[in-house]
Amino acid sequence: MNGDAVARWIERAAGLIGDNEKYLTELDAAIGDSDHGANMARGFAAVRGKLAGHPRDDVGAILKTVGMTLLSTIGGASGPLYGTLFLEAAKVSAGKAELDRGAILQSLSAGLAGIQKRGKAEPLDKTMVDALGPAIRAFEGAEGVSLAEALGRAAEAARQGAEATIPIVARKGRASYLGERSAGHQDPGATSMWLLLRSLAEAAAE
Ligand code: ADP
Ligand code: MG
Repeated sequence: MNGDAVARWIERAAGLIGDNEKYLTELDAAIGDSDHGANMARGFAAVRGKLAGHPRDDVGAILKTVGMTLLSTIGGASGPLYGTLFLEAAKVSAGKAELDRGAILQSLSAGLAGIQKRGKAEPLDKTMVDALGPAIRAFEGAEGVSLAEALGRAAEAARQGAEATIPIVARKGRASYLGERSAGHQDPGATSMWLLLRSLAEAAAE
């Protein structure tokens, strides 16, 4: 994936998140404070603006701009975590004109490690980690298929991971304040993570 493809990914993500703003807000209304849709839509709208006219020769520089912008515009718990995802991925891809499969895996893995370091969430705590973790494992395991297909499998694993948060009692974030009452609802951050990875797969297939 070169800089143009990465920019297409972010553009698609902004569109998909905008289309799903209400859905993400509804999910956050059930176990949080009803702001996840607005947070994500605001962040990705700002990113979209920042990337128009941004140089495309360095994938790391693009991802860094995305991370800094999300960090400063999303707010809430998810802003620093999504910011960290992109900033850690940016470090891995700094100076690269394009990312091959290994670099994509490394970037996503560094992003997940950053999210877990910052938020201290483990798998099955009912967070965005439950979508990104399975996606990375599916991507890594998708051998002998095209990049687009491998990312498609990653996105599907993220969708399933987000859905699998429904019965979980939250152990991190605002939803954890609800205790047992957080069970029975899909995690908003895991759902937005799925949308982000779906956009990535679509951009790679384009
Ligand atoms: P806030 O909870 O501050 O209102 P958002 O509503 O934007 O922020 O985001 C909530 C989402 O953030 C949750 O659904 C969850 O996926 C994610 N999240 C919250 N805390 C953590 C954490 N410590 N680690 C990973 N993800 C988290
Ligand atoms: Mg919220």
